[in-house]
Amino acid sequence: MAKALIVGAGINGLSTAWALTKRGWDVEVFEAGPVPNPKAASTDHHRLIRSHYTDPGYAARISEAFSAWDRMFDDLGERPYAPLGILGLSREEGDWTDRCRATMAARGVRSDLLDPDEVAARYPMLETDGVRYGLLTRDGGALMARRILAALAAWLRGAGVVIHEHSPVTEVDPAGSLRSTTGRHHADRIIVTAGIETGAFCPALAPKVHPRRVTVIYALPPDDLREAWEAGPCWIDLGGEDDLWGMPPIAGLPMKLGFGAYTQPGDPATERAVRQADIDAVMGAYQGRFKGIERFTVVEPHVNFYLMAEEERFLMHQEGAALFATADSGHGFKFGALSGEDIAEAADGGNVPAIARRMAGLLQV
Ligand SMILES: Cc1cc2nc3c(=O)[nH]c(=O)nc-3n(C[C@H](O)[C@H](O)[C@H](O)COP(=O)(O)OP(=O)(O)OC[C@H]3O[C@@H](n4cnc5c(N)ncnc54)[C@H](O)[C@@H]3O)c2cc1C
Repeated sequence: MAKALIVGAGINGLSTAWALTKRGWDVEVFEAGPVPNPKAASTDHHRLIRSHYTDPGYAARISEAFSAWDRMFDDLGERPYAPLGILGLSREEGDWTDRCRATMAARGVRSDLLDPDEVAARYPMLETDGVRYGLLTRDGGALMARRILAALAAWLRGAGVVIHEHSPVTEVDPAGSLRSTTGRHHADRIIVTAGIETGAFCPALAPKVHPRRVTVIYALPPDDLREAWEAGPCWIDLGGEDDLWGMPPIAGLPMKLGFGAYTQPGDPATERAVRQADIDAVMGAYQGRFKGIERFTVVEPHVNFYLMAEEERFLMHQEGAALFATADSGHGFKFGALSGEDIAEAADGGNVPAIARRMAGLLQV
């Protein structure tokens, strides 16, 4: 039986372990911390999955991503997914949602175009001054990330996969071994899906990637807007180029407010603490976008990091028996099940350059 050792138990490492196990491989996973690791990019209550994309390559892969989750959820015996729909608003010609609309139309992605009156009537909790239209997809919503990671780890253990927690890998030898706190281990394939640490193992990828610091705020809306928000969709853009995204209350959780334009390069070793300036920046960005934003209650601000590559692409590099993959750039969770299948195919004799191009969104299907 072919054997693989996987470095990192975020969504990409665990999904690769799942897909390789289904291909009949013997798999072990090494994770620096607990599983899920609170510091991993994958670890949060939820992550968005949406068809809104300006990039035609990733827009083309979204339906495959949904199918891959279906396959995984069938195996897990649960669907940790809240399909609430996704709303984007256009406020300026050529803004992000307007560009998505063009890409999605060209790809035949189904969406509803809402005129400004309809946006105001359906979403009384939004400020709609200056809105040109709303672009709503009924598919898409919140993948319940923590539950997915926990269910995947349980499935893998049930299938005989050994997950070494608290076992940081210190060295990868492309000849087919790695060193961790439990000693040196050998295999046919070493797969490095170590999130923000992936570049540290791969000199070819290191200059192409850098960590970015992201703040998200869990917050409660005021009582008079709570009901409207509880029936609300996820949002991916509220117009212009601010890149405001987030989740309504789901499964008893507070709302989650993100602000993409505030994401910056940062040092994960020293900059994980939340600053008051982070909270002010995110909440301030929703002025003129959410009604009553000054009356929202901040429950839990949160800082995390992801690994950015040029043009927000996913990268894979092969060296000997080692495969190094970063399917992240701040939008990798939604592709997690699919990326796991891609990386497993690459490890299992697939055409690595072709699969790498597919993962990078460079081959339109
Ligand atoms: C705040 C935030 C919001 C996001 N929102 C979305 C979203 O809405 N939708 C979406 O699709 N994507 C989103 N993303 C991006 C998405 O979360 C990431 O693309 C994805 O989770 C990356 O998964 P990964 O497995 O590659 O990395 P990670 O989840 O970071 O996993 C890597 C793992 O490797 C481990 N590791 C590192 N070094 C070692 C070592 N030496 N030895 C052993 N283990 C090691 C780490 O501890 C970690 O557990 C968001 C990211 C952030 C930070």
